[in-house]
Amino acid sequence: MKLIITGPPGAGKGTMSTFIKNEYKIPHLSTGDILRDEIKKETELGVFAKTLIDKGNFVPDDTIVKIVEKTISSLDSYLLDGFPRSLSQAEIFEKMLLLNQLELTGVIYLNEKKETLIKRLSNRLVCSNCSAIYNKETKKPLKANTCDNCEHSLVQREDDKPEFLEKRLDIYYAKTEPMLNFYRKRNLLYEIESGLSISEQYSQLQIILEMIRK
Ligand code: AMP
Repeated sequence: MKLIITGPPGAGKGTMSTFIKNEYKIPHLSTGDILRDEIKKETELGVFAKTLIDKGNFVPDDTIVKIVEKTISSLDSYLLDGFPRSLSQAEIFEKMLLLNQLELTGVIYLNEKKETLIKRLSNRLVCSNCSAIYNKETKKPLKANTCDNCEHSLVQREDDKPEFLEKRLDIYYAKTEPMLNFYRKRNLLYEIESGLSISEQYSQLQIILEMIRK
């Protein structure tokens, strides 16, 4: 299956992607994770991306498209998380698929209310090593500030800090939300409604995936 998972920051894309990766054995490609990895390695791309990401801004389309093209070129199935993120990226991606005579299986859209997103993102902690996600209130690690999986320290993402959070959400509503109609019109959009627990989201996700993989 060739899938996209989309939705506002904090809607649970990372958590649902981990389920899909593990249960359906589909490679998970998060453009945000790829960029953060480049930042960690201090590559030329990483140094450039850091200045934009830390402040909640987008990385330019041509940079992102190059990363995606390179990453998916050898894959028969994938779950794209964080790309496309705007109408222009969706259009570029459609052309890329057409050129290679490939079809997208579906776009999973995780919806969530703004108040919930703000609460979730301000309490989010991530492992500095394996990117596992925790929450100061709802998903505490067993040992304070330490990852349960790999025992590395937990940190708050720079762009989850209050001064950048609102801006990221504003950018989401201005640039990413309009992309939903692009996929809705093509009958590719499958929405998971807001206000659900992780297990409820997952149940809906399973129903969608069973339906679209036939
Ligand atoms: P994420 O982990 O998906 O929230 O992505 C973190 C940051 O990486 C975003 O706030 C952007 O700065 C950058 N980024 C990730 N994917 C894209 C994309 N498709 N287009 C532009 N910027 C992106």
